[in-house]
Amino acid sequence: MKKLAAGNWKMNGTAASLAEVQALLAAHPAPKCEMLLCPPATLLAQMAWAAKGSVLAVGGQDCHAKASGAHTGDISAAMLKDAGAAYVILGHSERRADHGETDAQVRAKAEAALAAGLVAVVCVGETEAQRDAGTTLDVIDSQLAGSVPEATAATLVVAYEPVWAIGTGRTPTLAEIAEVHAFLRARLTDRFGADAAGVRLLYGGSVKPSNAAEIFGLPNVDGALVGGASLKAADFGAIVAAL
Ligand code: PGA
Repeated sequence: MKKLAAGNWKMNGTAASLAEVQALLAAHPAPKCEMLLCPPATLLAQMAWAAKGSVLAVGGQDCHAKASGAHTGDISAAMLKDAGAAYVILGHSERRADHGETDAQVRAKAEAALAAGLVAVVCVGETEAQRDAGTTLDVIDSQLAGSVPEATAATLVVAYEPVWAIGTGRTPTLAEIAEVHAFLRARLTDRFGADAAGVRLLYGGSVKPSNAAEIFGLPNVDGALVGGASLKAADFGAIVAAL
């Protein structure tokens, strides 16, 4: 399985930011892992063009569950694909919080993504209150059951992102990350059988150059979903090099 370094630019970046893509590709023309950047939709086609023929894949940060129609402001999976995307992040905790996305909606979006030929990167993760209450694995279990569509190892990536670790500089302990990732693998194996061994499981939440190597050394961690540290080529490149 090829590991995956995925960057989520969130609502950051203008055309000038594409210089970071050039710098990233110049510094890492042939990394061991797969590289993915998910820019805001406004930059998707330009970034895909800049990455054409390179090892960098691009992806969206969300899509609509329907293929087309009267949905002002929304973007379909087929449109992402048409703009050059190969992946789409779905069910990020910021979308679950800001837009009230439910597990069922995330699953419907993921099904639309697969139908359009995209790889779905489905995000799950507990809040701080849920971790403190000792319900982390229950929360992950129900998010996984509710959000993950019928898929194969080639079409599904699952990202474990504790909500309290996103953008905070705080991370779970290595043992806590390993525990959740082992749980994810076991649950996916219950559902998909042997194919689950090939589903890439990403850790996300305050991944940076200084902690990437130790996190990537954990069993069942097949890459990272990186927010803030994906905006600068030097930081993201250092994370890529650690995979
Ligand atoms: P962060 O964000 O790396 O800035 O913590 C991760 C994410 O939300 O995907």
